[in-house]
Amino acid sequence: MVLRTVQGTVTGEDVEDLRSFLTGLTGGPAVHETVVLACGHHEDERPTWMYVEADPRAGVARRRCLQCARSSGILDSDERWTHPPMWSCSGCHQSIGEVAAGLSVEDGEHVTWVVLAVRCTECGRIDGLTDVVLPGTPLTEVLDRL
Ligand SMILES: [Zn+2]
Ligand SMILES: [Zn+2]
Repeated sequence: MVLRTVQGTVTGEDVEDLRSFLTGLTGGPAVHETVVLACGHHEDERPTWMYVEADPRAGVARRRCLQCARSSGILDSDERWTHPPMWSCSGCHQSIGEVAAGLSVEDGEHVTWVVLAVRCTECGRIDGLTDVVLPGTPLTEVLDRL
């Protein structure tokens, strides 16, 4: 579990800083790709502001779009759901964040590890959420289910 080794407070100004946080994580597998999660249920835009629930022990997470309130579980989280509390910022305590995934990819096409982090839209604080080990799942399948 890599996230617990991250010490101190990290803040970021935008999702690019969130991506940098993920690629800069140490102590675990290398992160080769980062993906900013966005709601896919809108015509002209892909909103990135969301609520998120995550359980770092079980490796499950679910996000809910701020605009349309649709929820979606990350990967197979819905099947293993543990009802964790909603994330709220440990700095300013509000619950709206931008979420990104870091992927460790073997041979450019098989994902062996996913790590999720959130950036508070209010104060910019970045927190780790959870991580999941995968058995070499095809990259396209993982991207569909984030
Ligand atoms: Zn939406
Ligand atoms: Zn905050």
